[in-house]
Amino acid sequence: MMIDPNMLSDPIERAADILSQAKSVVALTGAGISVESGIPPFRGKGGLWEKMDPMEVAHIDAFIENPERVWNLLIKEMKTVLDRARPNPAHTGLVDLERLGKLATVITQNVDGLHQAAGSSDVIEFHGNFAWQRCTECGQLHPTAEVDIARIPPQCDCGGILRPDCVFFGEMIPTEAMVRSQQISSGCDVMLVIGTSAMVQPAASMPFIARENGARIIEINPEPTPLTGRISNLPLMGDAGRIMPQLVEAVKERLDSP
Ligand code: NAD
Ligand code: ZN
Repeated sequence: MMIDPNMLSDPIERAADILSQAKSVVALTGAGISVESGIPPFRGKGGLWEKMDPMEVAHIDAFIENPERVWNLLIKEMKTVLDRARPNPAHTGLVDLERLGKLATVITQNVDGLHQAAGSSDVIEFHGNFAWQRCTECGQLHPTAEVDIARIPPQCDCGGILRPDCVFFGEMIPTEAMVRSQQISSGCDVMLVIGTSAMVQPAASMPFIARENGARIIEINPEPTPLTGRISNLPLMGDAGRIMPQLVEAVKERLDSP
């Protein structure tokens, strides 16, 4: 049983104690951190998977077999939602922590680019970025915002079909992102795990790597996950956009008056 007895006191205050004393902090974020920016998650309440089967739409084999279908069911909708989305207080809270010297790197499973839009300076994109579409023939990258979706599937000038420059289920994680994430996870002394169901591998293994190397795990999520009570010492149960600003304030107070 890994739950910290001190969590019986206010968990945000406890988390702030841990963060203010930490030397090397990393955040692992998932779809949940962008929910308050209007982007639905895959799993959980209101998640996309309540409406469709992931393997039907987000697997590379499904795309290869029928790109038109995957564009119509998933990618077109993602483009509409992501074009509009702006960072929320959870993203900006991570930028505040970085400015306080209490966060070095964000490892994200998200493809929405909102950490960079908020101002985080070191973001590892585990699953790529939806801001670009890649030609399946010549490899040329096209800004998603400029892709004409009047015709589905959209095509490159060379006639090749475009696909998001993201990792589909069934594809490899970009090697550099994988290697750096493992290194950073094993070297941190605190990992903030925010808005991830911790079900998608290999991203879900990062908190385990951190924990094995002695890091404290602070989890922010309105729902319990497979990490909760196992390796996360400190679950902060609630919406990230509400909790992060409180956490930042509590850390600031400690740094202002040590
Ligand atoms: P997930 O969809 O599996 O899980 C989302 C988690 O967020 C759940 O545990 C849920 O309880 C939690 N959550 C919901 N609202 C929250 C809030 N307001 N604050 C904090 N947490 C909240 O997400 P995942 O673990 O990231 O894995 C799914 C995969 O889908 C990812 O790998 C990602 O590539 C992709 N995805 C990305 C986006 C995006 O870029 N924004 C959106 C959907 C899915
Ligand atoms: Zn091309």
